[in-house]
Amino acid sequence: MTAPLLEVSDLSVEFPQRRQRLQALDRISFTLEAGEVLGFVGESGAGKSLTGAAIMGLLEPPGRITGGRITLQGQRIDGQAESVRGRRIGMIFQDPLTSLNPLRTVGDQLVETIQLHLGMDAGAAAQRAGELLDEVGIDRARIGAYPHEFSGGMRQRIVIALALAPEPELIIADEPTTALDVSIQAQVLALLRRLCKERGAAVILITHDMGVIAETTDRVAVLYAGRLVETGRTAEVIAAPRHPYTKGLMAATPNLDLVSVDTVLPQIPGSMPSLAALPPGCRFHPRCGDVMPVCRRTAAPFIDGVACHLYGAQTQEAG
Ligand code: SF4
Repeated sequence: MTAPLLEVSDLSVEFPQRRQRLQALDRISFTLEAGEVLGFVGESGAGKSLTGAAIMGLLEPPGRITGGRITLQGQRIDGQAESVRGRRIGMIFQDPLTSLNPLRTVGDQLVETIQLHLGMDAGAAAQRAGELLDEVGIDRARIGAYPHEFSGGMRQRIVIALALAPEPELIIADEPTTALDVSIQAQVLALLRRLCKERGAAVILITHDMGVIAETTDRVAVLYAGRLVETGRTAEVIAAPRHPYTKGLMAATPNLDLVSVDTVLPQIPGSMPSLAALPPGCRFHPRCGDVMPVCRRTAAPFIDGVACHLYGAQTQEAG
């Protein structure tokens, strides 16, 4: 049996403080196949970006991986992500200006990336840079322009071209359209999805937006306070969410066919707990309308795609 493209097993991340160790990720496990788009969704502080940063080896100190393993095509990469970053795993951040050098033309940046990772000579790299611009819908005649000469949406297309230039097996896109006008978000996401599918590259798409998950991903992983709480095929999770947190996120997502200007969308009460004050048991229990006594004592095991005492063996104890 061939190994999945990416396998993350029991990944735990901590931030040691003077008096305590803050557990930011708690035994996160998932797999990703070539060409698949997996969405990570949850509110701020859920652990989505941290999971991406841990895979890329970009945890901010003093954050560190304290458990688990990460493999790419069967090769262990935790602790040595610099050997695959850029070349085999590309990253797209929220703000394209953080990824582009304002003092250099987009052509120079593309050519340098292609030469660095693919070893092409200058002529072949320039040709490839032009092709990449065409593929992301930017006229290659603008190869000599600087980042500030493009709109926000075009800059993010250029960042996508830069991430794809080394022909990576995996792209991690962290809120790639949050900084863009709503009218062009869908275009940029569709472009990212199409280009990655054409190349067989997998994508981890990090977002707080269930609408983006619905439109763009094949599978979804819902995170809450550093734990994976639900995962499954996107269409199935959206049609029938099981974890109360997933249900809350779904209910708070506007459906343009159904809402009017007067519609008040339901909110999940309360807010994401701070890492310094994580509740015992199920970390969602202070906000959960279905909370049971067992939830306050014991975290639910992750069984059959969901971690909740409403499902599985612990339910009997709940009464
Ligand atoms: Fe709610 Fe309990 Fe399920 Fe947590 S385990 S989501 S508190 S029902």
